[in-house]
Amino acid sequence: MADSPELHRGATWVLIGLAVVTFVVLRRIDAPYGRHQRASWGPTMPARLGWIVMETPAVLVFAGIYFQGQHRFELVPLILLGMWQFHYVQRTYVFPFRMRGEGKTMPIVVCALAFVFQLLNSYINARWISHFGSYGGEWLSDPRLWIGAALFLGGWLINFKADAMLIALRKPGEQGYKIPRGWLYERISCPNYLGEMLVWIGWAVATWSLAGFGFALYTIANIGPRALANHRWYRETFEDYPEQRKAVIPYLL
Ligand code: NDP
Repeated sequence: MADSPELHRGATWVLIGLAVVTFVVLRRIDAPYGRHQRASWGPTMPARLGWIVMETPAVLVFAGIYFQGQHRFELVPLILLGMWQFHYVQRTYVFPFRMRGEGKTMPIVVCALAFVFQLLNSYINARWISHFGSYGGEWLSDPRLWIGAALFLGGWLINFKADAMLIALRKPGEQGYKIPRGWLYERISCPNYLGEMLVWIGWAVATWSLAGFGFALYTIANIGPRALANHRWYRETFEDYPEQRKAVIPYLL
């Protein structure tokens, strides 16, 4: 690839800048998909297709860039590649088919923005782990790799189970929303977002990099405000919504 460490660092700072902008915007406007979708956001496409399209760069572009890196066949970069793909193959090609809500749509603009974001994010993280970063054999005995991997896996399991519980609230063919009950839902409205944040904090720790930090920050800036918006929506929508529940961090927020 005809890039340089300076270009890569510049792109990473753009990602960090985008996290700040995203946080500011999403504190004022609820991202218009799912329960917050509004007709004013223009033409729509099937939601399932939207998820596949907007997340595909995180699988295919990520792999394509990874395999151009000078460290592509080294063990630690391969472990990191495996972690990333473990998450994104599920999110891109399994999650959309687990979702229920036949006929659901999303604005094309949401899909397009997320697609462009994932191009940038995939370049930054894939290029870092297989080329500009340096993860020799000694990284295998560094606790940061394993603490990060444990956070990643724990977050993934929380995210997967929490999404599964939401999806199970609808019978096939249903489209509406119900109050989720049990497990972490007794403490917070959005355990799926808590899990997702832990996944990318784990990635940031395991890679110990500005690239990983940038994506973790972006994820928090993106789904933190959405967790608050979903929590507010639940409280406004259901009179009997449990009082003690927080939005995304048990007992705190
Ligand atoms: P939501 O919690 O809004 O929805 C998840 C699924 O469950 C959707 O199919 C939704 O249907 C359904 N659902 C949600 N709540 C209910 C309910 N109360 N009753 C019945 N069905 C319900 O999550 P998102 O769609 O925002 O995100 C999906 C996944 O993608 C999550 O795991 C999230 O962590 C991840 N994500 C990651 C981001 C990142 O920056 N890394 C950004 C955004 C999402 P419907 O679509 O009809 O609302």
